[in-house]
Amino acid sequence: MKTLIVEDDFLARSLLSTLLSEYGVCHVAVNGREALDAIERAFDENDPYDLICLDIMMPVMDGQEALLELRKMEARRGLKGLDTTKVIMVTAIDDSKNIMKAFRQGQCEAYLTKPLDRTKLIGHIRDLGLIE
Ligand SMILES: [Mg+2]
Repeated sequence: MKTLIVEDDFLARSLLSTLLSEYGVCHVAVNGREALDAIERAFDENDPYDLICLDIMMPVMDGQEALLELRKMEARRGLKGLDTTKVIMVTAIDDSKNIMKAFRQGQCEAYLTKPLDRTKLIGHIRDLGLIE
């Protein structure tokens, strides 16, 4: 499983990186802009990310905008359905309205609230069929 963690908070980023490194290669980005560059490069190299953990509140480009741009990028490349990247949105509990919006619109596959719960995270990844 190749994962991209997009998170501006150092501690959350480090925690996710530690947890997800157990399951494969793990890259990190600190905002949506940097994430989109990494995602585009991965598509170009035919080695796309299997999973993106996307924080919502970030400087430069937030997670909502990055998610929309990711879906546009995939559409431009003719990717749809099961070929699109699995995205787990991550955010503070008091931002649950935003996260539910993205979830209901079907743009992301799952969401998590902080503080991060390892069991929930791994459960989502298993439900998405990314690990056994
Ligand atoms: Mg943040």
